[in-house]
Amino acid sequence: MQIVETNLQFSRAPSKRTRTGRIILHHTASADVSAATIHGWHQGQGWIGIGYHFVIRANGTIERGRPEDTIGSHAGPQGNGDSIGIVLTGNFEIGAPSTAQMVALAELINELRSRYGDLTVIGHKDVMATACPGRNFPWDDLKRRLEAKQVDQWKLDIIAKAKAAGLITIDHDPDEPASKWFVLQVIMNALGGK
Ligand SMILES: [Zn+2]
Repeated sequence: MQIVETNLQFSRAPSKRTRTGRIILHHTASADVSAATIHGWHQGQGWIGIGYHFVIRANGTIERGRPEDTIGSHAGPQGNGDSIGIVLTGNFEIGAPSTAQMVALAELINELRSRYGDLTVIGHKDVMATACPGRNFPWDDLKRRLEAKQVDQWKLDIIAKAKAAGLITIDHDPDEPASKWFVLQVIMNALGGK
């Protein structure tokens, strides 16, 4: 996963965040715009700069916003203090996120969770009276992606090892029954952990 550094200049250094327990999701309610453009919008509101920590563009590119270890300005007094703010560009009251955006979002959440622990993922609307991230935001799809990622990794490891050991010659679908993975692992163990 790659994060595009944007080196945005803030009018003063954002305060450091001491607690991180949540990820709060947003849409821009606009066209596909850059972190630099949002930075300009937020400065225009008299803020020190962009309020979100990450911006996910329509093509799946992840751009840096406010430094990750600082308090954001995206979810009000009930949300900012202990959260990382991620915005997806687009208006999900009308449209919906692209597949590339959802893939990138799941990757980013998994990466953040690997460093901060099991962060809760909520929408802006869960802490403030707003529609954000929009009525079409696919919560079920996100949940499925996050669960699939965790479940599949150990299977993908077995597939790779079984191929290396010559037990299988094709990539098997991680959705196949669990017994297959058990059998492959047992055979590999019998072969001496190749
Ligand atoms: Zn929002």
